[in-house]
Amino acid sequence: MRDFRAFLLDLDGVVYRGEQVLPGAREFVEWADATGRRVLYLSNNSLQSPDDVGEKLARLGMPRPQGRVLTAGWAAAQLLGQRFPGGRVFVLGVLAVERMVEQAGLHTVWRDAADADVPDAVLVGLDRSLTYERLKRALRLPMEDGFDPGTGAIATALEYASDVRAEIVGKPAPAIIQQAMRMLGVSPAETLLIGDGLDLDIVAGHAAGVTTALVLTGLTSAEQAAAAEGARKPEMIFPDMRALLAAAQAAATG
Ligand SMILES: [Mg+2]
Repeated sequence: MRDFRAFLLDLDGVVYRGEQVLPGAREFVEWADATGRRVLYLSNNSLQSPDDVGEKLARLGMPRPQGRVLTAGWAAAQLLGQRFPGGRVFVLGVLAVERMVEQAGLHTVWRDAADADVPDAVLVGLDRSLTYERLKRALRLPMEDGFDPGTGAIATALEYASDVRAEIVGKPAPAIIQQAMRMLGVSPAETLLIGDGLDLDIVAGHAAGVTTALVLTGLTSAEQAAAAEGARKPEMIFPDMRALLAAAQAAATG
């Protein structure tokens, strides 16, 4: 463990499981806050806004969530806002994602029917009310992706039929990690990504060039973690956030 300046915390399996805060998670964030280190809560959920996630974190007693949550849907909307300022976006997803796109200063179009003006981008999020008509409409363009198995399946259908590659924003793509570092104003060398999944968290962290730590309170067993290779192999493995906190404190005091 080095002395990191910023920590990107995956939520499910790292900070909480269901309505239960995991051991050491709250104490870790309190220590980081008290010592001037930066923390960002990362959610790969493409449907929820940072405020939705922040409400849950506040309810669970996690320190000061407001303003330091990044979700995949929000990151995708922000990315589109940067690339097409004031542009037109067809959201192949739920209304909550449309709201995030509008909050990024973009115009949402084509919800009920396609008019003459072609959007600048299609943003794909998980949409359980997806219809053939809406899928057909989206096929008139390239696209962005939120993530989630359901989202990936929709994006892959569009890729297959259009021969245009989707740009993925959520983990395991690095875009959400890069957006998180921009929000905190930190470099990859200063950043530790903490997650519970090899295929999403650790792979995404490596793609973004940050150091990764795996905690064993979620998706991954100790045996699976020890057997991981290549981009799936975390630099550090801890039983839980309590152990990670002890290591971080030891590194901080040299
Ligand atoms: Mg997780």
